[in-house]
Amino acid sequence: MRTLTIKPKAITHNLNQVKKMAPQAKVLAMVKSNAYGHGVAAVLPALQQADGIGVATFIEALEARQLGWKKTIGLVEGAFTADEWQQAIEQDISCVIHHEPQLEWALDNIPPANSATRVVWLKYNTGMNRLGFNAESVMTAAKRLHEAGYQLILATHFANADNRTHPLNSKQIQRFTNVLKALRETISANIKGSLCNSAGIVNFSEHHHEWVRPGIILYGSSPVIDKSAHELDLQPAMNFSAQIIALQTVSANDAIGYGSRWVAQQDTKTALVSVGYGDGYPRVVNGDAYVSVIDSTNNRSYLCTVIGRVAMDMIVIDVSAVPEDVALLDSQVMLWGDAPHIDEVAVHADTISYELLCRVTMRPKRIQA
Ligand SMILES: *Cc1c(COP(=O)(O)O)cnc(C)c1O
Repeated sequence: MRTLTIKPKAITHNLNQVKKMAPQAKVLAMVKSNAYGHGVAAVLPALQQADGIGVATFIEALEARQLGWKKTIGLVEGAFTADEWQQAIEQDISCVIHHEPQLEWALDNIPPANSATRVVWLKYNTGMNRLGFNAESVMTAAKRLHEAGYQLILATHFANADNRTHPLNSKQIQRFTNVLKALRETISANIKGSLCNSAGIVNFSEHHHEWVRPGIILYGSSPVIDKSAHELDLQPAMNFSAQIIALQTVSANDAIGYGSRWVAQQDTKTALVSVGYGDGYPRVVNGDAYVSVIDSTNNRSYLCTVIGRVAMDMIVIDVSAVPEDVALLDSQVMLWGDAPHIDEVAVHADTISYELLCRVTMRPKRIQA
């Protein structure tokens, strides 16, 4: 059986790591895209010590409210229509305002004084060049919102925070700091700031401001290029496993799988594992990709390379080096989790852990550790 084991304790541990790194800041824990594939319902109880959660769509915000999340919900792309702005007020959701139409909706329809929607995340484009006002228009927008009774959090997003030495980082930090200072001097000393995603939290500890917005780090993956999840003392929050459903010995010169891409150099013991891209294991993994066969009796595991094409429902692995009493029918195989770490699988699939996590399908059975 394909199984996704979600580990709420790991998420709480990772949240505590964030709190240790950013002791002064409030935490908006990002749970967009079904909590990076982990399942919002499974994750919310582990985030009770966060100050709020962040989502990308109104439907996600609504789901979190329906699951009983009472604290802040930040909608990071804001309302998409005037009607959605009205619904955000009804659900007490705090929105990003990143362009003129959203600004007008907010000015035309002001929530009650005690509403969480009175807090807005005003997005300033410091160099990512996706969402946000420029330096000049952000000042005007801030003034109008402040005068209408809104409380402001100036927000921006790093484009390269994973790479500490990228030259755009200091530019973004400087632009953000300058505008925040100007807003505090000319509009209100009470305006808050929010700059850091996971990578920013790790790499730019001087710039955490009042709110940090961790995402991937909560799920146990390293957000930066020069430190592993292990070095950051993060715990993977998802174990993805399947089992061996057939064993074979392939003769030298025989090929395996679609396209006959992998040809045995010598007689090779193989195991067929019942998982594939139909479950979310990436089809594009290169020849270095591996999984681990679990020996639960002795609490050990054996790394095995994935050979031949990943198919929709199965992969083949090389079990030549695994003891015969371990590589058995039904033996558990870990695709990612404790080992291999998802960050390693992502490298072999030429992508990032975020994408692998979001792409797990509905087929694996979901359980909680
Ligand atoms: C997704 C997101 C984050 C979290 O990013 P990570 O790299 O996963 O930490 C932070 N801020 C915003 C606005 C986001 O959309």
